[in-house]
Amino acid sequence: MKRSFVAFAEHVTRATRSIPPVRPPYKNMLKDPSKKYRAFQPPKMQSRKWPDNTITKAPRWLSTDLRDGNQSLPDPMSVEQKKEYFHKLVGMGFKEIEVSFPSASQTDFDFTRYAVENAPDDVSIQALVQSREHLIRRTVESLTGAKRATIHTYLATSDMFREIVFNMSQEQAIAKAVEATKLVRKLTKDDPSQQATRWSYEFSPECFSDTPPEFALQICEAVKQAWEPTVDNPIIFNLPATIEVATPNVYADLIEYFSTHISEREKVCISTHNHNDRGCAVAATELGLLAGADRVEGCIFGNGERTGNVDIVTVGLNMYTQGISPNLDFSDMTSIREVVERCNKIPVPQRAPYGGDLVVCAFSGSHQDAIKKGFALQEKKKAQGIEDPLWRIPYLPLDPKDIGRDYEAVIRVNSQSGKGGAAWVILRSLGLDLPKSMQVEFSKAVQDNADALGRELKADEITSVLKKHYNYNNEACRDIELMEYDVQKFGSERRVLAGKVKINGQIVSIEGTGNGPISSLVDAFSKLLNVRFAVSNYTEHSLGSGSSTQAASYVSMTYNTTDGKAYKWGIGVSEDVGDSSVEAIFSCINNIVRSGDVALPEISK
Ligand SMILES: [Zn+2]
Repeated sequence: MKRSFVAFAEHVTRATRSIPPVRPPYKNMLKDPSKKYRAFQPPKMQSRKWPDNTITKAPRWLSTDLRDGNQSLPDPMSVEQKKEYFHKLVGMGFKEIEVSFPSASQTDFDFTRYAVENAPDDVSIQALVQSREHLIRRTVESLTGAKRATIHTYLATSDMFREIVFNMSQEQAIAKAVEATKLVRKLTKDDPSQQATRWSYEFSPECFSDTPPEFALQICEAVKQAWEPTVDNPIIFNLPATIEVATPNVYADLIEYFSTHISEREKVCISTHNHNDRGCAVAATELGLLAGADRVEGCIFGNGERTGNVDIVTVGLNMYTQGISPNLDFSDMTSIREVVERCNKIPVPQRAPYGGDLVVCAFSGSHQDAIKKGFALQEKKKAQGIEDPLWRIPYLPLDPKDIGRDYEAVIRVNSQSGKGGAAWVILRSLGLDLPKSMQVEFSKAVQDNADALGRELKADEITSVLKKHYNYNNEACRDIELMEYDVQKFGSERRVLAGKVKINGQIVSIEGTGNGPISSLVDAFSKLLNVRFAVSNYTEHSLGSGSSTQAASYVSMTYNTTDGKAYKWGIGVSEDVGDSSVEAIFSCINNIVRSGDVALPEISK
């Protein structure tokens, strides 16, 4: 009512004066950016297959949190933090972990040694190195003795990087990449003293997303020939979108071109490495997988240079919600987040997919209602003994329990929430299934509280609003207290109730008649307070299970005031269903008295 009046008032105000259209000043942005920024020219693809593909299995994963992620932190991880992070990654099931740039510093070298000495046998430790001899030697040294190790070299191949940063021709680039590869080979898999390690090799043409596709292919063919991979231990060609320059479909085209043109495809593992400059890293990675990629490099919650690397949590759980195991364990999302936030010293955004605080919460009334209906149907089926494991809950693509999150957090209540939200909280916290018309009234009380506080109400605040507002089990006020009562039967229809109540410390006798105990008690109150009460709604349900089962009763009573008809609710909970309904009536009567609508009788002391 209040809102529609405000909208009407605004409409009237606007209609009576004319507001000129806004002309944005374009203080910094160019009105025509086409001279400064040129659209990326994607290579022409004759035909593409990837749009018809689907993701059917998990890729190989490489975590680069400790390398790409760590090198981009304002405050890099301490050695202790790197260790904690490393063990978390192993615990989640990562089999390939890029741990450092060991030739860059003694700290990185020492940590690589730690990882080599503490990695399970099936985990490959990967280290990055520039294509320079003394750095390669130092890197191989850092990995010596590992069960599995991967040396990762890279070279600028994009026109811009070759020309501006490195001043190198395409031929020079190929020669340098081949030379580095041969050196790594000589120092690792060809060295008889290095046979205890399963050596793998990764090469990154950088920045692949901006490299002419024919040249990326040409340099990788040369590197492959120099390394001579096997089907058992394929060479890894990492094809990084070091800078994301185009829409994800262009990246997929480039991956498909590479995948379908590289020779001896069975001896090649195509790896994606997407940065998130345009905010499309997840999409580009997924389209890359459709286009033939076998492996995904990224970071937990997407840490990394600038806008970060692709977020492995999102890519992995996207697969999971399609029924595909990512082969990574995100069961304990809270502890994963804690480790990541503690070590990175960067908070995970509240809206981060899957892991963010707010992503399994619903505030809006219609969303809450839909979610509640989804859960109710699930529980109904369960009660009927129907086994249906399929997850079908509106607005929740993932069962929060699968990643260790609570249902209690799913529905949250602020001033925008409808009746369903507050009722859900009461159902979850007190087990009380409030009748529909009571929910409407209760949600109004909750909204008033949320509005007054100007914030969301916590679950315990909502339960205390209920207890106070409805005089839950007469806990909030007891102006009239029941001392004792007895109901006598007269024939099949007539009941007479006689009892004693305490009003302001004085014992008063009451008596009423009706066709049952409830109606005779209501009649007794009508006489006592000289107001005609009528029960307008009564429901009950059991609470808890086994020997601790209780009954919950809800009653609303109508009565006349000088302003017309009014009603109030009461709640009673007791081990005995008769007692719980009597408690509910007392709770309701006390509510009515407390509201001031009905006065207590004068008792002579
Ligand atoms: Zn990167």
